[in-house]
Amino acid sequence: MDNLDIASQKSSDINHVLSQIYDSVKENRKGALADYIPELAKVDPNIYGIAIATNKGHIHSVGDVDATFTIQSISKALNYCIALELLGRDVLESVGVEPSGDRFNAIEFDPRTLRPYNPMVNAGAITIAGLLYNHLGNEAYEYILDRFSRAAGRQLTLNEDVYNSEMLTGHRNRAIGHLLLSTQAIKEPVDKALDLYFRQCSISVSTLDLAVMGATFSNLGQNPITGKQVFDMTSIRNTLSVMFTCGMYDSSGFWAHDVGLPAKSGVGGGIMGIVNRQLGIGTYSPLLDVNGNSVRGIESFKKLSDEFGLHAFDSTNRGSGLVAHFFDY
Ligand code: GLN
Repeated sequence: MDNLDIASQKSSDINHVLSQIYDSVKENRKGALADYIPELAKVDPNIYGIAIATNKGHIHSVGDVDATFTIQSISKALNYCIALELLGRDVLESVGVEPSGDRFNAIEFDPRTLRPYNPMVNAGAITIAGLLYNHLGNEAYEYILDRFSRAAGRQLTLNEDVYNSEMLTGHRNRAIGHLLLSTQAIKEPVDKALDLYFRQCSISVSTLDLAVMGATFSNLGQNPITGKQVFDMTSIRNTLSVMFTCGMYDSSGFWAHDVGLPAKSGVGGGIMGIVNRQLGIGTYSPLLDVNGNSVRGIESFKKLSDEFGLHAFDSTNRGSGLVAHFFDY
């Protein structure tokens, strides 16, 4: 076989495995739509997509991968990366890097430091939003939107309805913001930090966008489709570490154990996962488990990890070999 034949054979092998995973996971109708942000309860529960983008710029996908939804907490990973890049390790004085083991919207801080446990729970992400606002001023939202867009390789927009819904009902997040002010983890203006947080969560993305954003992380900050550098390489290392230990809320331990990839989920139903130096993976299905993670998303990732040998600590070290076998063409 010449190189072109090998490439098309590998490509069709990948698509075949993806379709099998998709068809089996689609049967799973467990979980419920997030309804504490009223606008999120209005989405179609059947939409489901999986997309993979490779560091070489190939894309494989199945299902409703162009349907858009709000990025929600996946934005926390991107903003943490941006904050590390702009502010360096000083960020760690405001937000820790320890798993909390608590719910994403828990009203709880590290008792030793009175700082949020990590940037992947709401308290940490609101603090990061405050740091970004204080550094960038009123341009902060446009600045992060531009970075998110470059990571996705297309201009993203705000879902105004979800943003308004979050603004109207985000009392718990406001309470967290004001508590952070009382412990001096965050500085005034707290309302601006909260506004940035509500906006970052309400940016519309597709499953395909999540895959490309993930591949921008896996490709050391360079978007493999556009070829443009989006994030600083050193910030990515630290962002992936926190995603690995804290990205899936109170089931981060299970995730690290059974899937073995840095990832971040959002209550919109998306999950963005990364196979370092190799792949970005996006899934979307809005039916959530009790931890706020997409039920089909988790099952899809588990199967992808098993089928393609993606787990970071695969005991036979089959992982990287299998990925190369499938995706290196
Ligand atoms: N905007 C949501 C909130 O703060 C994000 C939460 C999430 O995706 N887990 O409640």
